[in-house]
Amino acid sequence: MPVKPSEKEEEYFLRLESQRLKHLADERVKELKKKERDELKNLHWMHCPKCGQQLETITIKAVEVDRCFHCNGIWLDEGELEKLATTEAKKKNVVSSLLKIFG
Ligand SMILES: [Zn+2]
Repeated sequence: MPVKPSEKEEEYFLRLESQRLKHLADERVKELKKKERDELKNLHWMHCPKCGQQLETITIKAVEVDRCFHCNGIWLDEGELEKLATTEAKKKNVVSSLLKIFG
C-alpha cells in the first residue's frame, strides 16, 4: 500500500513545483517584448481568466476581491490571500462574509 506523504512533505513538493512554474513564467515573459506584454495586459485587464467576462471589484472588510458575475469565480490580487490569512481578517470573518454575500 502506498504511504501517504505527510503534510510537510506534500507542502515541500508543492513549493518546489510552484518555484518551477514561477521560473517558467518568468522565462516566458522575458521572451515577450514590452509592446506584446502591454497588448496582453490591455486585452486581459479585469477580465475573468476562466470565461473572459468583465470582473467587478468589491471591497469586503478592507479586502478587495474581483468577482466574475458570469461564472461566479472570485479572484485575488497579490497580497490579498495573505491578508485573508491574517488574524485580523479571521477576526473580521472576511471569508465567511464572502460566502454569505456570494453564497
Ligand atoms: Zn468568469
